[in-house]
Amino acid sequence: MTAPITQDVLTLPRNLPETGKRNLVGLTREGLREALLEIGTPEKQAKMRTGQIWQWIYQWGVRDFAAMTNLAKAYRAELEAHFSIELPEVVTKTVSADGTRKYLVRIAGGHEVEVVYIPETDRGTLCISSQVGCTLTCSFCHTGTQKLVRNLTAGEIIGQVMLARDDLGEWPEQGAPKNETRLLSNIVLMGMGEPLHNFENVRDAMKIAMDPEGIQLSRRRITLSTSGVVPEIARTAEEIGCLLAVSFHATTDEVRDRLVPINKRWNIETLLGALRDYPRVANSERITFEYVMLKGVNDSDADARRLVKLIQGIPAKINLIPFNEWPGSPYERSDWARIEKFADIVHKAGYASPIRTPRGEDIMAACGQLKSATERARKSRKDIAAEAGLG
Ligand code: SF4
Repeated sequence: MTAPITQDVLTLPRNLPETGKRNLVGLTREGLREALLEIGTPEKQAKMRTGQIWQWIYQWGVRDFAAMTNLAKAYRAELEAHFSIELPEVVTKTVSADGTRKYLVRIAGGHEVEVVYIPETDRGTLCISSQVGCTLTCSFCHTGTQKLVRNLTAGEIIGQVMLARDDLGEWPEQGAPKNETRLLSNIVLMGMGEPLHNFENVRDAMKIAMDPEGIQLSRRRITLSTSGVVPEIARTAEEIGCLLAVSFHATTDEVRDRLVPINKRWNIETLLGALRDYPRVANSERITFEYVMLKGVNDSDADARRLVKLIQGIPAKINLIPFNEWPGSPYERSDWARIEKFADIVHKAGYASPIRTPRGEDIMAACGQLKSATERARKSRKDIAAEAGLG
């Protein structure tokens, strides 16, 4: 296995200076229209100007107002005087031997989050973050050891998609036919943070990603993963409309309380109730149950049988995730034979149970390994073990 490549991107020309001007990235269409009105754009033109600028930014990936040639020169200068089009700054890009790319990006205030691009034969998935650190403390998750610093803005969330498209060179030429084969074809909100604890910003960012005059990603190509913030689950269907995944990981409340502490607030029964009522659930839009395979913790045959019993009646698929160790982690990955036996029981019960191939392990980009060096790392090894009931 060749050594991963780390490129110190700071030496490359920054994609945009920090201008102190109002950044348009992340504004909703209505927010953009209001911003244009504030600089004196005539009311009757505002909607059209919004559409034009929106397309330049999100369809063509243009960052320079001067290049927006369907706008009058004077108006472009006006825009330049008041606004900027800024993305989070890529601090480092690391490429794994298996092609996975991990970006460490810096956002306002100097905080850092991680973004991971996973290329596959039939798709390219971007795993994006919604918080710096996390509000929750799932004991198998590296991010969970990092106290929440803050929520990301809608601009910082959609900015992760845009900077990955920059790196992949995926912005279409103006007038070019629509490119159906995308390098970045899927988005998963499975990076750092609990997306449903930052609902509005996640919603606004995903609306930009799904906008037919924007990044034009189908809602069925976007999956939001929650650890179980029950009150916001139905809202996800109503206001975002993307696919849903749940960090499930256990089949008893006793174990799930330890692995996913939010279970103490909304336990398995309550969570499954919300999923049964999920407005968009259907065989064509199954809910993904994420299940991390932890040796001797949640990987028994009894667990597998209990799992399929619990989710009966919910159109679902189960993603089995071999645990990816991180420094100080209190768990071990289940043996492969155990994982395959577990998958077999689930599969025989009629559920798709793919085993997620760990990607980017050599660059700490695999599921549950993300953590930025941003301050306020909270827990020592002893704390983590105690939290997991192992201390
Ligand atoms: S699994 Fe998700 S919700 Fe849990 S600590 Fe990690 S990032 Fe937060």
